[in-house]
Amino acid sequence: MLDLSSKATGIAPSQTLAIDTRAKALKEEGKDVVGFGVGEPDFDTPQYIREAGKRAIDEGKTRYTPVPGTLTLRKKIAEKFLKENGLSYKPSEILVSSGAKQSIFTALAAIVNDGDEVLIPSPYWVSYPEMVRMVGGVPVFVPTRQEDDFRVTAEAVRALATERTKALILNSPSNPNGCVLPGGTLRELAQVAVEKRFYVISDEIYEKLVYDGEKHVSIASFGDEIKAQTVVINGASKAYAMTGWRIGYAAGPANVIKAMSAYQSHAASNACSISQYATEAALSGGEEELSKMVAAFDARRKLIHKLVNDAPRLSAFLPKGAFYIMVDLRGVLGKRHRGVAVESAEAFAELLLDEEFVAVVPGEAFGAPGFIRLSYATSEERIREGIRRMAAFVGKMES
Ligand code: PMP
Ligand code: GLU
Repeated sequence: MLDLSSKATGIAPSQTLAIDTRAKALKEEGKDVVGFGVGEPDFDTPQYIREAGKRAIDEGKTRYTPVPGTLTLRKKIAEKFLKENGLSYKPSEILVSSGAKQSIFTALAAIVNDGDEVLIPSPYWVSYPEMVRMVGGVPVFVPTRQEDDFRVTAEAVRALATERTKALILNSPSNPNGCVLPGGTLRELAQVAVEKRFYVISDEIYEKLVYDGEKHVSIASFGDEIKAQTVVINGASKAYAMTGWRIGYAAGPANVIKAMSAYQSHAASNACSISQYATEAALSGGEEELSKMVAAFDARRKLIHKLVNDAPRLSAFLPKGAFYIMVDLRGVLGKRHRGVAVESAEAFAELLLDEEFVAVVPGEAFGAPGFIRLSYATSEERIREGIRRMAAFVGKMES
């Protein structure tokens, strides 16, 4: 066998997607799996968006589009930013990609040199550190604590910023912990970024999924200086239940977007034409569908939070956004299952899937050992069943 590249062999595959594959395989074997693993809305893409996709096919809009996306979609995205985030972008400052994942990767590819440091608040979304490594950068983690609602602080970022710091990745509302950063914190973080001169990649994919009266604010909205250093990431996957359509987008300074576009032109050309037309429709309406989805997620959030905290030895922080909850396993690890001590969240997650058919992601994937992440983008009935099995499993563990 010939060698693989050292870059490729150093990359760990996405654990969230790996668990989803495993859970799906068990389902195919006929097992009754409760899936708290991968994070994707369980709702169907709203009808009006599906219709727009079908129309695009029937009208023959099935050819290459401009690399950064159709002009009409980019204009629609610019309107969205102005209306919802108070941010003014020209179409030349917007790039449409195959999913927000590709937008983030391409943004990193456009700004990170070998050895550059990228600050990542931890716990983090599974792909950030690997993406940074894939472009030759060095992830530097900024720890946050459950006791502080997982909020990253400007002081912590300042303390870890060096002359090698090229960027900070922010994700509010957060995957995996549902933290929503307050405006005051974002303003302070913006000041540090401007003072220390590093980019901010602000992943705002969950912006519409906020609860308890929380408001999403984009860090780029705190003035021209920070806007000129920020790449805002967003997309259709979460807000419009469109994960499979693969549409994400980035907005930022023209030179960064131009470099990202050049990179994408060789790596992927344009995002799917049909999906781009469907996203144009998505952004043109659907607030009603969205509020129904948000209300359902909110009810599930409260339910799962209560069920987890009622279960023996388990506890969880009440998330304020997105559709994930982190469950603290510190009262469980070290206890024995069938005589064998369960020492890590990874071991716990494996047993839970193999024996109870409940899929969760171990916190190790997010830099949060001692926790598991549950996606509650599933029905209340499945949530009850899954937590019932988990509580019974934990209840049987011996000290
Ligand atoms: N950022 C975060 C924080 C996510 O959770 C996800 C979901 N996978 C993405 C980006 C990527 O989304 P997309 O499906 O649009 O690539
Ligand atoms: N955002 C989802 C998750 O974290 C999708 C999986 C992925 O893209 O890795 O589970």
